[in-house]
Amino acid sequence: MKFVTTSWDDGDPNDLRIADLLRGHSVPGTFYVPLTEYRGRKILCTNELRSLRSAGFEIGGHSISHPKLPKLNRKQVAHEVRECKQRLEQTLGENVLMFCYPYGRFDNQVVDEVRDAGYRGARTTRMFSVATEFLPFEMPITLQAYPHGVTGYLRNLGRARNLPGLWTYMTRLRTAPSWVDLGKQLFDEVLQHGGIWHLYGHSWEIEELGIWGQLRELLDYVCKREGVTYATNGKLLSMTNCGSRCTKS
Ligand SMILES: [Zn+2]
Repeated sequence: MKFVTTSWDDGDPNDLRIADLLRGHSVPGTFYVPLTEYRGRKILCTNELRSLRSAGFEIGGHSISHPKLPKLNRKQVAHEVRECKQRLEQTLGENVLMFCYPYGRFDNQVVDEVRDAGYRGARTTRMFSVATEFLPFEMPITLQAYPHGVTGYLRNLGRARNLPGLWTYMTRLRTAPSWVDLGKQLFDEVLQHGGIWHLYGHSWEIEELGIWGQLRELLDYVCKREGVTYATNGKLLSMTNCGSRCTKS
């Protein structure tokens, strides 16, 4: 099976531009949003969240205030993940099933709290995965919409202790001229062998770096392909992962 999914973190108002771009390509997306402004950054208002949802996108939790969850005590973590779910559900009038760890940081206690809060799964920032089999609360990604240099990738992979990703990068991907080429190469691998191609990013970063054209080029490449299933993170999880490690793909 071949899947494409995308996810977008932080609830920046530029997410609306991401949504337009995705809609134009018929590519689904999950938007992970915190509920209070942090670092002076604006976030989407409740009406904007509702309109994203009614346009077919998924809204997932990204905590209340975007802290590094492993640095908090258990009670504080529980508050961040539960309150976020409840408030989003009040806004949207439906269950919120997916969560995304702020800064990609999590540990066993955080996973337990996210699971106990009633989420079905959570997305990490572990790169260079195309696997259809993964732990539901450790959903990996394939690529970030960001022009990391070689050292940036190595730092990210090292920090996440992502040895499979490091191996993939060093043996097959290191020579790709740009992040867009990396994305195309990984998508070609999914087309050939099956798997999940999962692009994630931050719209505020795409705006700051002025890489909207590059994002469009990559979406042009992966969209509307025969034999590929396009799904939000939550749908994808329910299609590929029935609990812990089993897969229907
Ligand atoms: Zn974030």
